[in-house]
Amino acid sequence: QVSWELLGEGRKLADILKVELSAVILGGSSDELAAAARSAFTYGADVAYIVADPILTDYRNEPYTKAMTDLVNKYQPEILLLGATTLGRDLAGSVATTLLTGLTADCTELAIDPDNRGLLATRPTFGGSLLCTIQTLNYRPQMATIRPRVMAMPDPLPERSGRIISENLQMQEDDIIAKVLEFIPDEAQEQAQLAYADVIVAGGRGMGKAENFRLIWDLAAVLGAEVGGSRPVTHAGWLPADRQVGQSGKTVRPKLYIAAGISGAIQHRVGMEASDVIIAINNDPHAPIFDFATYGIVGDAVQILPVLTDAFRSR
Ligand code: FAD
Repeated sequence: QVSWELLGEGRKLADILKVELSAVILGGSSDELAAAARSAFTYGADVAYIVADPILTDYRNEPYTKAMTDLVNKYQPEILLLGATTLGRDLAGSVATTLLTGLTADCTELAIDPDNRGLLATRPTFGGSLLCTIQTLNYRPQMATIRPRVMAMPDPLPERSGRIISENLQMQEDDIIAKVLEFIPDEAQEQAQLAYADVIVAGGRGMGKAENFRLIWDLAAVLGAEVGGSRPVTHAGWLPADRQVGQSGKTVRPKLYIAAGISGAIQHRVGMEASDVIIAINNDPHAPIFDFATYGIVGDAVQILPVLTDAFRSR
């Protein structure tokens, strides 16, 4: 989804600069890539560059970096945008270092400088207490990664079409150091959906111990919600790392965010404050989270969560 969000934002930038907007689509099957290209046109792309090769079936940094840098060297884009997902962050760094250009990571806003037509990429800095706008001078392309759900999802225009340009990957399997020996599906694959969840129940250090997270999971199950947490709980192993919400975790924007035993530190806040409704449960009435929560419940989360779960279950 972040790719469509980037196309929507890219369309606005391309219209300001009066240039074409292109999508890069990499993968193993040309049929699937052609279908993705058609979707890219409906979300605003004028051109789709496709590289289909069995080597690109599963993401590996080396062949993806090679495919992307070859395209950039050949077609010389002014701006190159990627989603700040786990994969996008990995790829963007190696593409930028290979191309010897600048990369502004984790952006929340993009604009064009009217003076020099350069990309103005804005991102939170100093723990989210400042916003910093960065411009890459003298080096091209200007690269940025953008967090999922920060840019609006564009409306699809089903009648729109564009040009498909196919390129070959100049790489053999033997050239690649990393080999895929076995594919083990992630048991908890739904974690990846945290950024797009409508309801999230999150727990913090105030939950006390790993076993108490059962109460978070119980409430999430009743609400059909995803489970998230603060950094101390992912560091302690109470939750997997990719459920961390915040500056160094995921940015989320659900309709409802229930935060139990979370103090509301700025590094957590920047990842969840755009939620429509925030319910905070904390036994300290002066906890910072009450400064920006929509509703606050002062009390012991270990006692309050089961009461909420029962109440929602009976509805
Ligand atoms: P605490 O701050 O310890 O708060 C626990 C809260 O629980 C307290 O408010 C307490 O009153 C309450 N409490 C205690 N017992 C109960 C109870 N029985 N019932 C109800 N409430 C109770 N943090 C993140 O979350 N995400 C990030 O991405 C992130 N990135 C960071 C990046 C950097 C560079 C740095 C320096 C820090 C980062 N942090 C991040 C850490 C952040 O600064 C805070 O330390 C962290 O968010 C605090 O987590 P917490 O609220 O769970 O714990």
